[in-house]
Amino acid sequence: MRATITFNDIEEYISCPRKYFLQPPEEELFKSFEQNTRNLLNLNFSVENPVISINFHEKTLISDPDLIIPDKNGWKIVLKKTAKNFKEKYLLEAAFHGYVFSNAGFPVTEVIVTSEFFTQKIDWKNSLPLLFSTLEQMAKIQPTEPPQPKPCELCKNCQYVFDCTKDLIQKQDLLAIHGISDKTKEKLAKCGIFSLSDLLNFKEKCSKHFDEKLVKKALSLLQEKPIILTPYKKLEPGVFVDIEFNSLKHFDFLFGILQDDKYTPYLCKDENEEKEVFKELLDLFLKLNCPIYHYGPYEPKRFQQLAYKYKEFLPMYERVKKNFFDLYQFLCKHVALPLFTYSLKSVARYFGFTATTQLDSSKANRYFQRWLLTKDDHYLSVLLKYNEEDLRSTKLVFERLNFLVDQDVTSQQP
Ligand code: SF4
Repeated sequence: MRATITFNDIEEYISCPRKYFLQPPEEELFKSFEQNTRNLLNLNFSVENPVISINFHEKTLISDPDLIIPDKNGWKIVLKKTAKNFKEKYLLEAAFHGYVFSNAGFPVTEVIVTSEFFTQKIDWKNSLPLLFSTLEQMAKIQPTEPPQPKPCELCKNCQYVFDCTKDLIQKQDLLAIHGISDKTKEKLAKCGIFSLSDLLNFKEKCSKHFDEKLVKKALSLLQEKPIILTPYKKLEPGVFVDIEFNSLKHFDFLFGILQDDKYTPYLCKDENEEKEVFKELLDLFLKLNCPIYHYGPYEPKRFQQLAYKYKEFLPMYERVKKNFFDLYQFLCKHVALPLFTYSLKSVARYFGFTATTQLDSSKANRYFQRWLLTKDDHYLSVLLKYNEEDLRSTKLVFERLNFLVDQDVTSQQP
């Protein structure tokens, strides 16, 4: 068990114990903020992104909720979310923050979980038994070998994807196949297919449910090389876009563009700058009139939302929207890779990209908040680097898709 525990660590442990045990702890962000938080709380101020720690059975528990506000008999903690519905896991999170702040001398009267769609008050004390039993489980497991891979949401940003893929392939586990559902596994089991090698005889075992794509995906994993699933034409040159969203303040704080290999960040320090940046980008895209490559559904969705928010730009957006091109969808449809997750970071790494920043979207958000609070440009430069690296990764996927189609004779067929 690590010497320090944040709620992110607990979430990580619950989602994938393997990752929790493999990954070194992240401590550097907290220490410098704790004294500042204590000073402000002692003056009875509300504090955004407060940080407080306490000792707990020879460990340090570090709490960093979104907001703390003075309340008549103590303090109210606010946890801001982007989810549409309240989730059970917020109870554990409320217990963690409530417990740490109360034991640090700032008694918490209630924890409020809020998003655009709901607000719920939580009596954090009700979930203390669950919190203590989770911490106890975390303390007990001391594996000589890391726990088994457990494909989950965390995999998409996890640096252990290659090791876990190898581990699953070695065990011939069907979970190594990208996107395989429990329903498909059940169907395969009924056909007597339980392993990757079994899948190679799919047609003989079960011609009725035969799925050629699954066989190609198994082959790609076993042979450790990309395999074309369906033929496609070479992609045209274009521009690349990647947006970073501020979940706390609900606006996009960074629109990164990669054009002719030149990175340009469009930064919004607050929501008031969003409209101007949006217009600048629409002007640029109209002028270029070329494919706008992105990875995943977020970018076109946000452009659509912004066009409805700033309605005067709807006609411009209507002309631009046809040019958005999702490389993730395209990759999934046309190419099998020897990976169980096709997240941008994993795919780019597989194609040879080495990232220098270790952020993900939630850490990027924290860096943005820290930059706004401290004006320390170190946070901003890491953020920009992270955004640029995502764009360069997207470009690399584009280039590799074109390289693969050049190599593959089947794609030349009509
Ligand atoms: S890649 Fe996925 S399964 Fe492997 S350690 Fe990371 S989160 Fe866990």
